[in-house]
Amino acid sequence: MTFDNLGLSTELLRAVSDQGYSEPTPIQAKAIPIVLKGGDMLAAAQTGTGKTAGFTLPMLQLLNGQKPKGGRRPVRALILTPTRELAAQISENITCYGKYLPLRSTVVFGGVKINPQIAALRKGVDILVATPGRLLDHVSQKTLDLSQVEILVLDEADQMLNMGFIRDIRKILALLPKKRQNLLFSATFSEDIKKLANSMLNAPDLVEVARRNTASELVSQVVHHVDKSKKRALLSFLIGSNNWQQVLVFTRTKHGANRLAQQLGKDGINSAAIHGNKSQGARTRALAEFKQGSVRVLVATDIAARGLDIDQLPHVVNFELPNVAEDYVHRIGRTGRAGTAGEAVSLVCVDELKLLKDIERLVKLKVPKIEIKGFAPDPSIAAEPIKNGRHNKPSNGKPKMNHKRAPKRRSNQRPKSASRSSS
Ligand code: AMP
Repeated sequence: MTFDNLGLSTELLRAVSDQGYSEPTPIQAKAIPIVLKGGDMLAAAQTGTGKTAGFTLPMLQLLNGQKPKGGRRPVRALILTPTRELAAQISENITCYGKYLPLRSTVVFGGVKINPQIAALRKGVDILVATPGRLLDHVSQKTLDLSQVEILVLDEADQMLNMGFIRDIRKILALLPKKRQNLLFSATFSEDIKKLANSMLNAPDLVEVARRNTASELVSQVVHHVDKSKKRALLSFLIGSNNWQQVLVFTRTKHGANRLAQQLGKDGINSAAIHGNKSQGARTRALAEFKQGSVRVLVATDIAARGLDIDQLPHVVNFELPNVAEDYVHRIGRTGRAGTAGEAVSLVCVDELKLLKDIERLVKLKVPKIEIKGFAPDPSIAAEPIKNGRHNKPSNGKPKMNHKRAPKRRSNQRPKSASRSSS
């Protein structure tokens, strides 16, 4: 399969070839012809599968083929994402794939000044990438008109629901024309995702590239059973003895991320933390330093790391297991991307054995155990309840959805959900 038989225009093929892509990934081969036909699509695909180009390339082609009526440039394609980082990445992808086309795009998300975004919108854009909270801010300030949207993409829809964006999504859907093309991407398929898909998609084509709820097969997964108090020492040992140069480490809380980055620093391992309490500037800087190699370990919370696109990231460490098993799939999906091998290591203490069981059930795999001399757990330590970070699990075993309405606010205030896009 080559890109040439997918029906893309020469401008797009040239941009793809500039990227050095020799053949489409499976999701691209399946999704591009479907999107070009103009129908709705429901796609089960994790990040790392090449899904962004899978919807961006055909979307650019459709928009370029149908020039807007009149002189104005209304927003004709809207892409919603759960996090700022993902929004920024998709926006970069659009710029890169659309470089030979006369289309304009911009990105809006919270945590940065709104005025430059207003100025960009005022000039007119064909494609808008946005996080839900800031998008609604623009709507309430009347700096954005969504009445001409022809294509809607919901990316990482499962994560948007986990972050409590369902109300914002519904509000946004109500602002769009009824007749439009809808593309919904999700790595996992909960009942809530199915409900959302049923309510917004019209006879969608289904595209599935990885088996449902299974972790990427390119990622080798291992578990180290270790006492909580020895996790930090084991992590330093693994990084040092294996000479790992680029490691993404997940903690459950923002505070835990900060503390771990500091402790690793004291062990001589250059580390930075990213989470929602850091300014956008600090997050962007930490990510850039990590990508370019001056920061060896990036410690992140689940939300901050969603959608991060780091080329050939070889190691992901779960310093703590996530409370929601689906988040494990997202975490390890940071490695083993676009065909390269990766390794996901989980440090599991006695308190987390139940979480490990949930994960193993979800990924349908018994994750192999590795024991390292000196780090075997003390069998006399009893399990304690896990103090909750972001996710709480209600008694029905499903991740808790935050359906609460944001408190009433003045129209120039950010809605609560805008800050959730950053945690
Ligand atoms: P995504 O899943 O969209 O986040 O893409 C994951 C990574 O794969 C990104 O770094 C893309 O640049 C890269 N990529 C996308 N399409 C291809 C392709 N056809 N061949 C090689 N790499 C690709």
